[in-house]
Amino acid sequence: MTDQSASPPELRCCVCDTPVFPPYNTLGQRVYCDPHFAAVNKPHPGFWRAGALQILVMGIFAIVVAGFSSLLPDVGDSTLIGLGLLLAITPTALWLWYFYTQDRLEPEPKTRIALVFVVALLLTDFLGRRLVYDWFRVPEWASVDTMTSLLASILIVGFTWQAIQYVAVRFVYASTEFDERMDGIVYGTVAGLGVATLLNFYYILSNGGVALAPGVIHVVTTSLAQASFGGLMGYFMAEAKFTHKPVWYVPLTYGLVAALNGFFTWLIGEISSAGLSVEPWRSLAMGVLVALGAFGVLIYLMGRSTEVTLRRGAPSGR
Ligand SMILES: [Zn+2]
Repeated sequence: MTDQSASPPELRCCVCDTPVFPPYNTLGQRVYCDPHFAAVNKPHPGFWRAGALQILVMGIFAIVVAGFSSLLPDVGDSTLIGLGLLLAITPTALWLWYFYTQDRLEPEPKTRIALVFVVALLLTDFLGRRLVYDWFRVPEWASVDTMTSLLASILIVGFTWQAIQYVAVRFVYASTEFDERMDGIVYGTVAGLGVATLLNFYYILSNGGVALAPGVIHVVTTSLAQASFGGLMGYFMAEAKFTHKPVWYVPLTYGLVAALNGFFTWLIGEISSAGLSVEPWRSLAMGVLVALGAFGVLIYLMGRSTEVTLRRGAPSGR
């Protein structure tokens, strides 16, 4: 900590770069202008409520579609693919609609959300899938034994999807619109949805359309999981931007979330390969639990960050 009381050098807000004057608003060793200091810790109770509801709605959506799928008359393959692709984009559409209707996003250009989403989508297609399936050819050798498949899932699959989400968030990270912790969570979640949407597309296409019940469950589970891991990583990235963190903070938290991502992907794969057709329910339950768990962790972390800030008693007056 430098002592800022004696003839301070000109300091600038770490978000918008405008000069600031004593008394300073600081977090860690970062300095903020008044509006940005107020913004960075703004609580969003409505956001959390709506988000938790959203997770439950996705679970219920999957259950309802799967439950009614047996009532559908037999349809052709192309109809099945069409329906599958529609299912593949539904979770993403629900989340994007949710982010777009949250009034906290009103002042910022929503094109940034679209940018992060599209970057994650394209990277998954052109880099991620190539890495996992063409270069490492994970599915060809990873299933020899449990340890190999677990390690491959963590070190290759999890680290790849998470790296894509990281890079996608970096596209907006330095912008002045990225001015509160919640932005990290929102952009991270959107990046996770970009990855999930592309994976779901390929899942539907490579299976030539899928039976509706396991299909909707796979799609919703993948979306919930990737969105959760993306949201967690986005939070850690925001922490690194808004409070001073040691250099290992981002790599370590990235590795942690990537390992969780790989582990979860492995777990879902194990369940579906062992249990055939009845087991998707179990993976859906786990997907919902992971999402609610990640949500709980984020609420806790956000609450703690705000508390730390309030204890500093910084004179922002808001
Ligand atoms: Zn500022």
